[in-house]
Amino acid sequence: MVGELTVWHGINRNEIDWFPVIDPDKCTGCGMCVVTCGEKRNVFGYDRKLKKAVVLNPDNCMVGCNNCQVSCLWNAISYPENTDYLRDLVRKLPDEVLERELKNKLETTPGLKF
Ligand code: SF4
Ligand code: SF4
Repeated sequence: MVGELTVWHGINRNEIDWFPVIDPDKCTGCGMCVVTCGEKRNVFGYDRKLKKAVVLNPDNCMVGCNNCQVSCLWNAISYPENTDYLRDLVRKLPDEVLERELKNKLETTPGLKF
């Protein structure tokens, strides 16, 4: 996994159940998910012999993202958990974590602050 992706707001990424799961019976092999996921993350690979996408690096998935699910027009992608799980995760974050990150972001990107 890329170093900067190993921790999500102070939680080890490998402790969070958020990553795409492909139903191979529904996957048509179109490749849309492979090209949709950002190059920094590269969650998917592609099996040319079987003509199917495969999940290679699940923990590189951005927590809360579902872009590939939306882009899969064959409904072949799902996640182990739902958005209630994500809401609980965010609720449990210590207040100071997001406050500190927000402060840093606004200080380093002045155009966002008004
Ligand atoms: S977008 Fe869906 S159908 Fe296309 S390769 Fe990915 S999982 Fe398979
Ligand atoms: S949910 Fe987002 S980050 Fe995760 S695999 Fe899909 S496109 Fe990539």
